[in-house]
Amino acid sequence: MSKKKVIFLGVLLSLLLIPINSYAVTLQEYEDAVAKYTKELQEKEAKIAKGKEEIAAVKRNIADIEGKIKEAEEEVERLQREIEECNKEIEKKNKESKKIMEYYQVENGNNAYLEYVFGATSITDMVYRMSVAEQLTEYNDNVMKELKRLIEENEKKKVELNKKQEELKELKKNLEKEKERIEEEVSGVEGTVPSTKGQIALYQQRVDYYRSKGCKSSDVIGVTCDIPPKATTSSSGGSSVSAGVVIGENGFRFPVVGGRISWGYGSGGHKGVDITRGCGTPIYAVAPGRVYYVGNTLDNYGAYMVLVVHNVNGRLVFSQYAHVQPNIPVSVGQNVDIGTVVAYMGSTGYSTGCHLHLEMSQYYGWGYNGSYYQYRNNIISPWNYVPSPY
Ligand SMILES: [Zn+2]
Repeated sequence: MSKKKVIFLGVLLSLLLIPINSYAVTLQEYEDAVAKYTKELQEKEAKIAKGKEEIAAVKRNIADIEGKIKEAEEEVERLQREIEECNKEIEKKNKESKKIMEYYQVENGNNAYLEYVFGATSITDMVYRMSVAEQLTEYNDNVMKELKRLIEENEKKKVELNKKQEELKELKKNLEKEKERIEEEVSGVEGTVPSTKGQIALYQQRVDYYRSKGCKSSDVIGVTCDIPPKATTSSSGGSSVSAGVVIGENGFRFPVVGGRISWGYGSGGHKGVDITRGCGTPIYAVAPGRVYYVGNTLDNYGAYMVLVVHNVNGRLVFSQYAHVQPNIPVSVGQNVDIGTVVAYMGSTGYSTGCHLHLEMSQYYGWGYNGSYYQYRNNIISPWNYVPSPY
């Protein structure tokens, strides 16, 4: 296993273990997380910038090679044209020589026409004319020889240039591969940037929130600072609580007025208690606390739900109200009491009719921003806290 993989697994494992093993989160841990992800982001951005520079350099290199390939092509074309011109010239010289030879042969073959043909006035003149003809053909032969040599030379050059071109094309192909590799690497890193930015934003939000609540770095979130209102020292009771409300000695109440239990806790793996009382029935917080989540993004099963966190003598207890109507009257961070309507009975999510699914969970000190994963793994019976009306 590579060193990188070992480190990765180590980080993964520690991420999994932190929420399980550490029962308390200090503000310092959130601040460290912001610093850690910020550093990670900077490293990624530096890597991307470096990769882009490399890509630009390779691109320049490719353009340079393309220019050289084009030059070689043009040179091959020029050589080809020169070869063709030489061939034409050879043909021309050939014809000239033939013509001269024809005259020469006529002259040698028939003296009677000598005068007529060459118009020589004397033997000397004739010999002179004959030597000129000889010289001319010899000259043409030499020119042709020279032209043939030039053609051969050009053909050789063409072969060399073609070879060079092949080499350049191969080089270009390799550079393009290199460019693709870097581009893939860069886009890979770029793909992880949004999640790093998201992590920074998440932890920064928490730091800002707890700072605004006066928490210090050494404070344990939800335990030594930003403590939700205590359920036990609750509401002086009454004025906002209507008649028929069932309140236990611990300050918890039954979340609706009236209603019947349509599915009990634990039977068939049921993680909560179903209470049925007609669509739109107001649902109250089971104890004083703070709204922790509102929406339909946590769980398809529960669809629209509200989560409230309660402080029971330092122990954080969560109550979840699921399948409610989308028109939720409270918002995250809001303090609620047993007289506060937190939702209206509905049938959103996996539900066949209007009812409330009341679910509860408890945990030590995971703070106001604990994860839903932690919530799901610490489900308890609502009857541990909520009084039953029956
Ligand atoms: Zn249910």
